[in-house]
Amino acid sequence: MIDIEKPIEHYFRLANIFYGQANIYESEGDLQKAYIYYLRLCTLGVEDIKKHPSYNNEKYFSDVNKIENICLNSLDAMERIDPILKQKEKEGTFINQNSLLNWVAEQQMLNFNTEKAQRETKADGKNLSIQTDEVAKNIKKLAFSNYNIIDNPESNSFRQLYLPSNIFNIFHKLAHENTIRNLETCGILSGTLANNKLTVTHLVIPKQTSTSDSCTTTNETELFFYQTKKNLLTLGWIHTHPTQSCFMSSVDLHTHCSYQLMLPEAIAIVLAPRHTVNKGAFQITNSGLQVISNCRNPNMFHPHENEDSLYKDLMTQKVLQSKN
Ligand SMILES: [Zn+2]
Ligand SMILES: [Zn+2]
Repeated sequence: MIDIEKPIEHYFRLANIFYGQANIYESEGDLQKAYIYYLRLCTLGVEDIKKHPSYNNEKYFSDVNKIENICLNSLDAMERIDPILKQKEKEGTFINQNSLLNWVAEQQMLNFNTEKAQRETKADGKNLSIQTDEVAKNIKKLAFSNYNIIDNPESNSFRQLYLPSNIFNIFHKLAHENTIRNLETCGILSGTLANNKLTVTHLVIPKQTSTSDSCTTTNETELFFYQTKKNLLTLGWIHTHPTQSCFMSSVDLHTHCSYQLMLPEAIAIVLAPRHTVNKGAFQITNSGLQVISNCRNPNMFHPHENEDSLYKDLMTQKVLQSKN
């Protein structure tokens, strides 16, 4: 369950993401889902993380402590929720027990591998003293009225993701200066979880370096603290292909694999302004996740077998008009 090649910080972040989502579901009264996220957190925090080689390193004592604390809170929460769920089960008020079980199974398949991270419900004042102004300058709070609904009909665990329809135009304009110089631009899609729906609300342009076919964020910690402070989740990322067509390169697939293992609904939007088919909202397929997460090819760009079956475009024309 633990990939020892990943730094332990990734698992600390993942634990916080589980905890954040559990709290949201509990506060909204969706106790089944709350229970699942508390359980996932406890499996990670009480069992799996102890197998990580850095677990006993003094340097991480205070982080380990924090994880232990949220696990204790979670165990309390599960004790509180469990009898209510049992009662509902007895009364037969569960709508579909099977679909819940599939959902758990599918979530478990993705294990607890992860990178990049976002959410802490109990913000740590000390951590937040890190300067976030630099990032804040590059944040666009997206005021939208239309949303593309990103859905994955093949996965019953997929929570619908609402993507503001004008994000493509906004990002296209922001990236223009780079695009005319044949340089890629990337941005982070941040947003919220409410009523079991994920909504992209902020576009963050992090510090980055780029070439004509790649783009790398250079200060992820800063981004992480900004999002923590604002209680935002990373829901995916967006980048341009100034010279190439709209597809996922091998580098893109490896980058996105980390996002998607962290949050199964995370999407990768590619904008190729010079080509007719110019945008896609991609996700790696389940079989693709296995291939990419096990690929150790050290070359930056490298071929994968059956490249076409590794990912798919989830962009639909389904557009929702919001009430505001
Ligand atoms: Zn790319
Ligand atoms: Zn690879």
